[in-house]
Amino acid sequence: MKTQFDYIIVGGGTAGAVVAARLAEKPGVRVALFEAGPSDEGDDAILTLRNWPNLLRTPLDFDYLIEPQPRGNGRIRHARGKMLGGCSSHNSCIAFWPPDEDLRIWEAAGAEGWGPDCVRPFIQQVQQKVNLEFPEPVNELGRAFFAAAQGAGYPARDFAGNIHQLGVGWFMLNKLGGVRHSSSVAYLHPLAQWNGRITFFTNCFVERVLLNGRRAIGVQTADGPVYAEREVILSCGAFDTPKLLMLSGIGPADHLREMEIEVQHHLPGVGENLLDHPEGVVNWEASKPVPPETTQLWELGLFAHTQPGLDAPDLMFHFGTEPFDMNTVPEGYPTTTNGFALTPNVARAKSQGTVRLRSANPADPPRIDFRYFTDPEGHDERVMVAGVKLARELAQQSALKEWIKQELSPGPEVQSDEAISEYVRRTANTVYHPAGTCKMGAVGDETAVVDSQLRLIGLDNLRIADASIFPTMIGVNPNLTCFVIGERCADFLSSE
Ligand SMILES: Cc1cc2nc3c(=O)[nH]c(=O)nc-3n(C[C@H](O)[C@H](O)[C@H](O)COP(=O)(O)OP(=O)(O)OC[C@H]3O[C@@H](n4cnc5c(N)ncnc54)[C@H](O)[C@@H]3O)c2cc1C
Repeated sequence: MKTQFDYIIVGGGTAGAVVAARLAEKPGVRVALFEAGPSDEGDDAILTLRNWPNLLRTPLDFDYLIEPQPRGNGRIRHARGKMLGGCSSHNSCIAFWPPDEDLRIWEAAGAEGWGPDCVRPFIQQVQQKVNLEFPEPVNELGRAFFAAAQGAGYPARDFAGNIHQLGVGWFMLNKLGGVRHSSSVAYLHPLAQWNGRITFFTNCFVERVLLNGRRAIGVQTADGPVYAEREVILSCGAFDTPKLLMLSGIGPADHLREMEIEVQHHLPGVGENLLDHPEGVVNWEASKPVPPETTQLWELGLFAHTQPGLDAPDLMFHFGTEPFDMNTVPEGYPTTTNGFALTPNVARAKSQGTVRLRSANPADPPRIDFRYFTDPEGHDERVMVAGVKLARELAQQSALKEWIKQELSPGPEVQSDEAISEYVRRTANTVYHPAGTCKMGAVGDETAVVDSQLRLIGLDNLRIADASIFPTMIGVNPNLTCFVIGERCADFLSSE
């Protein structure tokens, strides 16, 4: 096995595939890409976008459990793609650019050079690689929802633009016909083209980053060490990047000692600031057969304000032409095979959790505690309750009302704010958007893990490129933002 490279990238997922491809484009650069799962190339089960729900809870999904939640649903299972392309090989391909508002917030929080003007060229680079399409707006039930939203005062929006206003629209999707345009498809395929410039170590789980003093020099796998002459880049996602750092002795010293791991570098922010988009659901049984035409079942969305005077929407909905019952059925709510759902989510949720180790054994899953609905101002709970109420309001619009036989969950008897809150917290799901656990910030910010060039603070030759670097949650689905982070990371590396 070859054991010496210029760059090692751990995690061939969304951002990692982008970094690998961009680095290997440069002449003479040797890249090693380590991926815990298999290749996606030629695998129709992965590549066919419509099949995404069937990948949940399979060997291609890390399928992480979370800690019991005092104010939320502790039964949530967090899907994480385990194959080349990572979650971009598993997701529903809803594609939004990072909103300007969020980039301004990031910059103000210490991510220097991440404002909208600096990020735009990297968005354009992603645009050149990734195929973006809108679904044909043919589903009659989807069209009914669109009309209902307009009837309720939400203007039609083009979601290819920057989202800063309320409105309804069909989602832009990163796909080519029925095939997902994951980062693997868009940047790596065909794998044979790399001809040794990228060495793919698939089905290979990295256990530790190797340090020599303050400098990262390689990684440890079950098959032995592999070395990087230039840099090691971690792209394992918001759960596994902090896990790998902590297994390597990089993180909060107290916790490392508790796990009997030798402290190499005390960095208290590792595994802190765990963010997500918590999601509620209102399910209805349909009064007539739900039309089957769909790309991925969740083709439309709506952005809303729950109070006046906001700069940007604080509430988002996905509209699904299927019931979304995986967390309502276990609580005893009825379901159907002929139904539909609206799922309000807290667009810029404020509750923060943690990722910690369960033990010093790399094979153990991380200990994930979201602390859903625990932000001190009660923001997340308030927005979620408003979301359920607005979902019902939309359902009262004549265009949608004619499709409704009955509300299945929470059910018409659940009316007070307290009862809605209780229902929605008990049955909440995630939009599968964990982020923030190795946040980017100014050097000197005790809680930051990487600086604004994605370098790990306090060590040399180690960077992070994935959703873990988000300083705050962004107001839209985050996948394309991870592509942009990959582009930026490669640019920082190539500019040195
Ligand atoms: C079911 C689902 C649906 C979603 N739908 C959407 C959507 O429609 N639109 C949207 O914008 N976002 C969506 N998301 C979220 C989005 O896909 C993620 O936010 C994004 O892909 C995360 O990218 P990442 O680079 O941070 O990590 P990932 O893409 O998760 O990549 C991490 C990679 O690292 C590998 N890895 C982990 N640990 C190790 C290790 N120790 N050694 C080697 N390899 C390792 C993993 O196998 C994986 O390939 C969805 C996510 C899921 C799970």
